[in-house]
Amino acid sequence: MAEGVNLRDVREHNRALLLTHILRAGGLSRVELAERTGLTQQAVSKIVPELLSTGLLDEQRRQPSGAVGKPRTRLRIRAGAKHALGARLDRDEFRVLRTNLVGEVEETAGGPLPPGFTPAQAVDAIGATALELADGFDVLGLGLGAVGPLDHRAGLVRAATNMPGWHDVPLRGLLEQRTGLPVTLDKNTNAAAFARLWPHGEPTATAVVLVGTGIGVGLLIDGRLYRGPRTNAGEFGHTTISYDGPRCACGRRGCVEIMAKRAPDTRTAAGFLGIGLADLVQVLDLERIVLAGRAVRDEPDVHREAVSDRLEELLPLPHWQRIEVVEDASGEEIVTRGAAAEVLASYYANPA
Ligand SMILES: [Zn+2]
Repeated sequence: MAEGVNLRDVREHNRALLLTHILRAGGLSRVELAERTGLTQQAVSKIVPELLSTGLLDEQRRQPSGAVGKPRTRLRIRAGAKHALGARLDRDEFRVLRTNLVGEVEETAGGPLPPGFTPAQAVDAIGATALELADGFDVLGLGLGAVGPLDHRAGLVRAATNMPGWHDVPLRGLLEQRTGLPVTLDKNTNAAAFARLWPHGEPTATAVVLVGTGIGVGLLIDGRLYRGPRTNAGEFGHTTISYDGPRCACGRRGCVEIMAKRAPDTRTAAGFLGIGLADLVQVLDLERIVLAGRAVRDEPDVHREAVSDRLEELLPLPHWQRIEVVEDASGEEIVTRGAAAEVLASYYANPA
């Protein structure tokens, strides 16, 4: 990769840096911006008018009470300046939502998909709903979180497990044609993890476990989402915990997913999840496990307790190696919100 840094890149980098700091803090003065970014006040004063002129920032003037002199101004992201769409494609339904520029959800729509739906049916359903939600708004793009395996970089669904007829489908391109919007395609688990990562970050080693019609993990390592070279990281649902267990749809036996599926009740199912997660903790030195998805939203306490019990049983860890097990409070919309967040994050990284 080329290592040269052009002046233009530096300017773009600094614009992105300022916007991201303002977003995370909810609002900052020019002086605070210089302190937090390490840029000089002159540099900040040069970039801010550019950002104000693009309409991305608002300036609030506040006269300090009783004081005379120059009023302090606070810069904030103009939340309504731009919007993003996020979508989720599952094995039985789809959702689409619109957020503003700070990632707040404004409107949601969606519905069921017929059993054995084709790529064309999915593109039609998601595309039409996306266009309805985008109507009248300055929309940056559409992020889609879908069941894998898929190739994030090529925008290709390889072969969705349990979904016949889906083989090397160029889903990103098809949706771009249908909507006229730039589209990002990612695995649903990665989108879920991104919802936790952006904009405030997560601990150095965090696993976001998505429990829905399947089980998968999004990995947040060193402040980044780790997808792997073939977008195949986090296929945790198909790791073996019982070598001679029941046959899974993936072809193996005794995967976490099939063991959970065959369990007589939720607590036992979540316990199998915990057995698998104990290994993941050992491999990645996880600090936090975030439980999310439909099944967790329905019974959050059962999931958290059963997973924690298994971890304690299998990993009698010293106090300095504690693992936090939490559930995501946003419930169902974590994938859709994360898919929209991927669109927003790439805009903040390179604001036009
Ligand atoms: Zn499997």
